[in-house]
Amino acid sequence: MKIIAITNQKGGVGKTTTCVNLAASLAEHGKRVLLVDLDPQGNASTGSGIDKTHLKGSIYQVLIDSKTLQDVIIHAEAAKFDVAPSNRDLAGAEVELVNEMARETRLKNAILKLGDAYDFVLLDCPPSLNLVTVNALTAAHSVMIPMQCEYYALEGLSDLVNTIKKVRAHLNPVLEIEGLLRTMFDNRNMLAQQVSAQLVNHFGKKVYQTIIPRNVRLAEAPSYGMPVLLYDRASKGAQAYLELAQEIIQKN
Ligand code: ATP
Ligand code: MG
Repeated sequence: MKIIAITNQKGGVGKTTTCVNLAASLAEHGKRVLLVDLDPQGNASTGSGIDKTHLKGSIYQVLIDSKTLQDVIIHAEAAKFDVAPSNRDLAGAEVELVNEMARETRLKNAILKLGDAYDFVLLDCPPSLNLVTVNALTAAHSVMIPMQCEYYALEGLSDLVNTIKKVRAHLNPVLEIEGLLRTMFDNRNMLAQQVSAQLVNHFGKKVYQTIIPRNVRLAEAPSYGMPVLLYDRASKGAQAYLELAQEIIQKN
């Protein structure tokens, strides 16, 4: 079982889009996949076709130890992967966990109880480096960092890399950077090309070969509660995420 945290404290860089579509693409390649939604916005849950108003429970209850992951997991029928959903309740977790024992290892312990039920567990992190994100980084084997190739992208990256170093030193010695994913890429944009080249210069093989293009189908699919693979399989976005899944399977 490989646990990958999809993280970037910068908002709107394509974390959730990557989590949902990578989950669907790995499932399409025959892998057993669990998506854990760690954002109170619950976008990964709705984007996977889960109705947030009819949950057996949510990841919030798992983090405060009142339910197990098995209790809350729902199978996303059409998309062929499992989801541990989230909703607004999770916004309170931060405050409630502050004085609790083992507050950083709650998610890790919950996932360990699943045994070998999945090939991949993908963690969709919120856009901050809060306690929930620290739980994700503590539970994960590796971090996938989606990013837009913009001027400030590299600056934000150093904060994240420092947080990863701290978690590695204190909570999770095996944590590594799985890869950096260029998202919403526009080939005609000169700045994007420059930042992309800098990224490869600096991080070398850690940058995925697969590039996710800007593609309107990727933005439309969530409003139908579908990964893009189900919404428009032939689209450039769907094909890019299938290719990313292949690249990740080969690396792991
Ligand atoms: P947050 O930090 O709020 O959790 P996020 O990093 O999870 O955001 P997404 O929600 O995946 O980012 O994407 C932000 C917006 O950009 C969404 O409206 C999404 O549909 C759109 N989007 C993501 N990737 C692409 C893409 N490759 N092409 C076009 N639109 C995209
Ligand atoms: Mg998100």
